[in-house]
Amino acid sequence: MADKKDAFVTEITPQSEDFSRWYTDVIRRAELADYSPVKGCMVIRPYAYAMWELMQQALDRRFKATGHVNAYFPLFIPESLLRKEAEHVEGFAPQVAWVTRGGDEDLEEKLAIRPTSEVIFGTMYAKWIQSWRDLPVLINQWANIVRWEKVTRPFLRTTEFLWQEGHTAHETEQEAQEETRRILAIYKDFSEVELAMPVIDGQKSESEKFAGASRTYSIEALMGDGRALQAGTSHFLGQNFARAFDIKFQGRDKSLQYAWTTSWGVSTRMIGGVIMAHGDDSGLILPPRVAPHQVVIVPIQRGNWQETVLPVAARVRDMLVGAGVRVLLDERDAYTSGWKFAEWELRGVPVRIEIGPRDIEKSQVVLARRDTREKTPASMDGLAEHVRALLDTIQQALYDRAARFREEHTTRADSWEEFTRIMEGRPGFVIAGWCGSAECEAQIKTETQATLRNIPFGGEGRGRACIKCGRPSVAEAYFAKAY
Ligand SMILES: [Zn+2]
Repeated sequence: MADKKDAFVTEITPQSEDFSRWYTDVIRRAELADYSPVKGCMVIRPYAYAMWELMQQALDRRFKATGHVNAYFPLFIPESLLRKEAEHVEGFAPQVAWVTRGGDEDLEEKLAIRPTSEVIFGTMYAKWIQSWRDLPVLINQWANIVRWEKVTRPFLRTTEFLWQEGHTAHETEQEAQEETRRILAIYKDFSEVELAMPVIDGQKSESEKFAGASRTYSIEALMGDGRALQAGTSHFLGQNFARAFDIKFQGRDKSLQYAWTTSWGVSTRMIGGVIMAHGDDSGLILPPRVAPHQVVIVPIQRGNWQETVLPVAARVRDMLVGAGVRVLLDERDAYTSGWKFAEWELRGVPVRIEIGPRDIEKSQVVLARRDTREKTPASMDGLAEHVRALLDTIQQALYDRAARFREEHTTRADSWEEFTRIMEGRPGFVIAGWCGSAECEAQIKTETQATLRNIPFGGEGRGRACIKCGRPSVAEAYFAKAY
């Protein structure tokens, strides 16, 4: 049994040896995703898809609670539409996949497979919005997206991926700006509460903003290897798309005005974030709120366990299901208990319940935490409440651990020497002054591989001098090597 367990764990490269290989090993062994016959495209396997469904529900709840509704727009975008907003098309052109043939006929106009949907939403909004009374329009869609990528990595960057994209239109600039920030706050809350993943929320620099946007905001998380992950973005589009697509309405004063629009999205990239923010050398550690199985029950296979232990385990399962816990009873006979322990550890199940003949005599079970590996006996009486409280404790513990890790890996740099020294190795976030010039930003990237992640709210007008050129700083920014 011990040998089996060891063999299991050695199939995963330790994080300290090669984080990137650890990541792909975990994805393969935990059966989250697999490479497909199409280059750059992955198959999301049931276990990861179940995580995605839980994430969808948690986000969708928040969108609906703030007045948004869901709809579905077409996958294909006529070339002429994509060309209407100059910056937008320029930004996305290198990544667009085109359909040129339908059946056995060449198409008169090429169709893009959506790299994002601003232009098709914009076209429809121009039809639907006539008067200030038609505003705001607050629509989200859950969809797939195609962006032709040269280098891909499961969940983090794939040619096709799943996401949600919200597209809203407003009467005033202020309303649109508030919407952009409201969504960013929802993303932060979602990330921290559901994924136990602390994030820095702030504004992107000009060179990192969305193609066609006036302003882009992001949430940035720190992964276990000290790299940052952009986990969600929210764009204030000003009137750029309204002008390009003619989204006009009659205002309260009867004048014709352009609408103010926003767009925002998070994707299956979040799954990659959860893997890298919490996992360890034994595999995944899933936050209970997005774990497909919050609890797995493993009956100890001794003697005639199927007659003695299994019925008790089934009763425990039913009791937990009744209390709203997502629980799996692993009653497979073909695997030993030890093998099951190792497998569910690898797949990150927050709590394992072990039940053996001696536990039944004492009317107890053993609870094993994935995050701390603590094992404690618990009475069958009040077990459901006990388990629910434990899941909350684990959720909080994972957040606290990730927050502590970020704190330990966030440094303030006061000189270029200090900045470059920190950026060697596993830097995490480095806070530094920035003069606002794209040139300094580009030089920093060339020389250290670090990019300006965002300028946190309240960071404007702070810092003494630009870390690169020494001129007065316009903001204090977060820099990091990023995915
Ligand atoms: Zn500078």
